[in-house]
Amino acid sequence: MRKLNFKFVALMFISLFVSCQSDDLIETGGELSPTSESSKLIKLNSGATVELKNGEYFWQEDIVLSKAQLELLDKTGSIVDAPVEIDSANLIPISPMSGYSFVPESLTRNNGIYPTAYNLWAMVRFVYAPSGYGIDNQLAPETKYIIQQALRHWEEKTNVRFYNATGQPTTDPVYGIEYPYIYFCNGEGNSSSVGRVGGMQRVRLAYLGCNMGIAAHEIGHAIGLNHEQCRYDRDNYININWNNIQAGKEHNFQINNQNYYCIGGFDFGSIMLYSSDDFAEDPSIPVMTKKDGSTFEGQRSGLSDLDRRFPNTFYLPYTARSDVYRELDDVVYDQYNNKLTEQERLQLQAQLNNGNPNPPAGGRIPNEF
Ligand SMILES: [Zn+2]
Repeated sequence: MRKLNFKFVALMFISLFVSCQSDDLIETGGELSPTSESSKLIKLNSGATVELKNGEYFWQEDIVLSKAQLELLDKTGSIVDAPVEIDSANLIPISPMSGYSFVPESLTRNNGIYPTAYNLWAMVRFVYAPSGYGIDNQLAPETKYIIQQALRHWEEKTNVRFYNATGQPTTDPVYGIEYPYIYFCNGEGNSSSVGRVGGMQRVRLAYLGCNMGIAAHEIGHAIGLNHEQCRYDRDNYININWNNIQAGKEHNFQINNQNYYCIGGFDFGSIMLYSSDDFAEDPSIPVMTKKDGSTFEGQRSGLSDLDRRFPNTFYLPYTARSDVYRELDDVVYDQYNNKLTEQERLQLQAQLNNGNPNPPAGGRIPNEF
């Protein structure tokens, strides 16, 4: 079979596998309250609140937590087990700063997960569910078309690259463990995990009302982006009217105050931002306003320039190959969203391949969306 053969990815698989063996359970903090027949709120020991729906734990409405993330959120209030200090050694070799000119700098205005070798992707492996309208195990053809648009948008604007593994094995034949991959399927609502969590992770999209921007938002979670309104310093930029939030939805506005990669100002143009009136009990009164009292609309038309900064800082645009050569796509962005020159691109490619800038012939493998 063909497989993406990144040595470091294999290492990640192993680490991830080992780290997922714990069987402790989470229902610790108590304070349960029903929000509907099929869901209940659980306050964790850390103070964070999650919603249990159909056996899965949701955080901030549309973020699905893996068991490991839930345990971390319970213990630490964060879904990432990493120090907050920027340590570029942890980022190698996914990121462009590996052997290249990365400088941790203070103007990256994205709001993402703290990146480690375990929660970002080399290429984002994905599988489409079979065509149909069943929840969780099928994908409406209309939604598949929207996903294709969203994937192309992400690839055009960022260094993130996706690998369509539909119909291919989901288990590594050498290591015998499940590949990490996104499973695109229908949902009653839209949801995704944050970052790469190991094994299959669903990106669910509701086929009624879905559009490219909604799909791009959920994909944004999967590549590591958090909600903009939950960033650690949001109270400097927006006011939250806690009195007008629908009962049981207050947890959507809890702040992520640990293990984020978020430096710089609040991005009102972010695709990861909710709208002022989302989750409003009285829809005529905003839940969120800017400091001057004005309202804002969380846009879902495309990635903002600032949205692009996180993926362009931490990802490289690899092409799908059957060998170990790390071939870069034609356009490589730096952390400021500027395209590398061809000379810089080849220099980087050589650095990633023990000095060899030239990919072996015939190694590319088909990768159609
Ligand atoms: Zn979201």
